[in-house]
Amino acid sequence: MGWRRCGRCGMAEAGAVSDPAARAVDVISTAPAFTSADVARLTAHYAGVPTEAMLADLLRGELHGRVALVSSFGTESAVLLDLVAAVDRAIPLIFINTQKMFGETLAYRDSLAEHLGFTDLRVFRPDPHQLAARDAKGLRWGYDPDGCCGLRKVEPLARALAPFDAWISGRKGFQSGRAGLPRFELDAGRLKINPLADWDKARIDAHFTARDLPRHPLEAAGYPSIGCQPCTSQAQPGEDPRAGRWRHWDKTECGIHQPAF
Ligand code: SF4
Repeated sequence: MGWRRCGRCGMAEAGAVSDPAARAVDVISTAPAFTSADVARLTAHYAGVPTEAMLADLLRGELHGRVALVSSFGTESAVLLDLVAAVDRAIPLIFINTQKMFGETLAYRDSLAEHLGFTDLRVFRPDPHQLAARDAKGLRWGYDPDGCCGLRKVEPLARALAPFDAWISGRKGFQSGRAGLPRFELDAGRLKINPLADWDKARIDAHFTARDLPRHPLEAAGYPSIGCQPCTSQAQPGEDPRAGRWRHWDKTECGIHQPAF
């Protein structure tokens, strides 16, 4: 028995109402969005499929509205950005500003995103309370780079990716420590896609030329790989392109990605 309003006098009166117990129960799924079985399925399905076709199929189909593109706007980032922009310029485009970036990178980010027509650039920064508590002087990179990356890169990215089931990364298999990089990976229940996993340096350069893409301004100054300013130095002739990253440290990844193998 419940209460309803009388249609003639407006007074509340007793009457039958729907039984709350009979209502459909909302169920919030806490299951991971993707599993290792999905990774195997996608890997098999897109084996041999050209990168452009794979991206078009995924972004217009299974991943539509569920995926973000993450970019550091480094020396080779323009290629993946261009490939994705050809399919969906409205895709959420995430950039983590560690607040230790080169000014040139920030300017390149804005000009390149504008050049390619992206409409949903999302910039995330470290939590200011965490910064105050753990890196008040901004020097943590000098004695604890893993902790600094955790604070300035890993945590903001986790926050940025929270609404998404999948994300797209620009890593390549030819980069040092990334041999054998797969196209699809599982990352804490989220799908991580590496569309350029099988691209080599010559193909990257050819795409720059074919599409007349703008280069990062620091590349010509001797920086083939660019991260945060304190942790990036120029690579010398003959050195690995990533040799200038965390030079003198036993560190090759920021913690966002684990070494491929
Ligand atoms: S790359 Fe260097 S400055 Fe940037 S977050 Fe990592 S340790 Fe800190």
